[in-house]
Amino acid sequence: MPRIMAFSHDLIVIGGGSGGLANAQRSARYGARALVIEAGRLGGTCVNVGCVPKKVMWSAAQLAHGLQEARDYGFDVTVGALDWPALKRGRDAYVQRLNGIYDRNLAQRGVELIRGRAQLVAPSVVRVDGREFSAPHVVLATGSRPVYPDLPGAELGIVSDGFFELPERPRHVALVGSGYIAVEFASTLLGLGSRVSLVIRGKQVLRGFDAMLGEKLLADFKLGGAQVLDSALPVSLVRAGDTLTLSLADGRKVEALDTVIWAIGRSAITEYIDIPAVGLELDAAGFIKTSLLQETNVPGLYALGDATGRQALTPVAIAAGRRLADRLFDGQQHRFLDYENIPTVVFTHPPIGTVGMSEAEARLMYGDEITVFTSTFVPMYYALGTHKPKTHMKLVTRGKEHRIVGAHVIGPGADEMLQGFAVAVRMGATKADFDDTVAIHPTSAEEFVTMR
Ligand code: NDP
Repeated sequence: MPRIMAFSHDLIVIGGGSGGLANAQRSARYGARALVIEAGRLGGTCVNVGCVPKKVMWSAAQLAHGLQEARDYGFDVTVGALDWPALKRGRDAYVQRLNGIYDRNLAQRGVELIRGRAQLVAPSVVRVDGREFSAPHVVLATGSRPVYPDLPGAELGIVSDGFFELPERPRHVALVGSGYIAVEFASTLLGLGSRVSLVIRGKQVLRGFDAMLGEKLLADFKLGGAQVLDSALPVSLVRAGDTLTLSLADGRKVEALDTVIWAIGRSAITEYIDIPAVGLELDAAGFIKTSLLQETNVPGLYALGDATGRQALTPVAIAAGRRLADRLFDGQQHRFLDYENIPTVVFTHPPIGTVGMSEAEARLMYGDEITVFTSTFVPMYYALGTHKPKTHMKLVTRGKEHRIVGAHVIGPGADEMLQGFAVAVRMGATKADFDDTVAIHPTSAEEFVTMR
């Protein structure tokens, strides 16, 4: 006779980051006995070493730009030095408050929390410090960690986690990489007064985004005084006294550095899984393979968030987690996250907002069906200044009806501008819908509805 297993819980979530917490809380709301296992601080990458402290630093750099620009408006501003330790103290205290709120929220919402390192020993069995827990549904939401390159001296550099521990503002920093993290840190540190060298192995940053965005950003970096080294492959990092030297494959060197930040991507955290015993499939890059329903190849075992290698964005993990809970514990059979048309912002100065397909992607898929509309203008904010940076916008449309399949912007306010347009794109808006929408004047956003 088969042994009937008594489960300790209805749901076990491994990982107390954005996605895991969202899944556990929504499940508990439906009456599930939900358990979250987390060894570190609640909130995961986003709250502790990602979006939240990053946004604080971004805001600090925004203020630094604003203080300079205030002179154009007649303010007699003298910009003093940045008290980096004070900024760090304030930021760390804010994150700590959030950790406490996350803790209390879990308790209030009836989710059990166990502190410790989980080991997934069988599809429905999790061990933590010698204790065993089981559930018919187990969700892997353990996220990812930044990778170090494989080169001599790599350990002399830091990754994004280390950025948030820096006790002082770097004097001269090299950012290696060309994705979100490299350009966000480069931009913020430039704004806060560091000397910045951006080391990219290709010619462009933000590959995969509309090309206009990366081109404009690189031009802004150069104008802002950053050194941009392209076609640059690091081969070693060496310390001599107080300074670091980064050597490149073609013989170039970046010297007199005090900080090097590797921002070359992230890898999934999966070592707690007994892969052979569980029979879990990973993809070639080590991320957990999932279906659109967040199912792994093992029945009852699900994965969401950064560990799956899909768009590594907090709201994506949260949305996937909630929808999975809706399906598992509220009978909403058709709930799943549609990974199309996910809007995203790159927090540079100015910020970048984007939703849908890049022009190149759309042309590859739909060829001549694609028509593109663009707008380039100086935002009114700069009307009184001598420095007049331009905002660039693009709408990518498809077919005779000009359905909007992509909207892209780099310029002040892009971060707050795009959420509403993302709703329109998701609903299938056409260029005529945009044109028929009355503009809000004077704003930058109105350019999206006044393009000819
Ligand atoms: P990304 O994957 O975005 O970018 C890393 C880039 O670095 C690669 O695309 C590659 O670009 C380049 N690279 C890879 N390997 C090397 C190497 N050995 N040497 C030099 N360059 C290399 O990773 P990030 O670490 O920047 O960010 C991880 C994820 O976190 C992002 O994809 C995003 O989903 C998320 N994130 C989101 C943010 C937001 O929403 N604002 C902010 C920060 C992170 P190429 O091939 O062109 O050289």
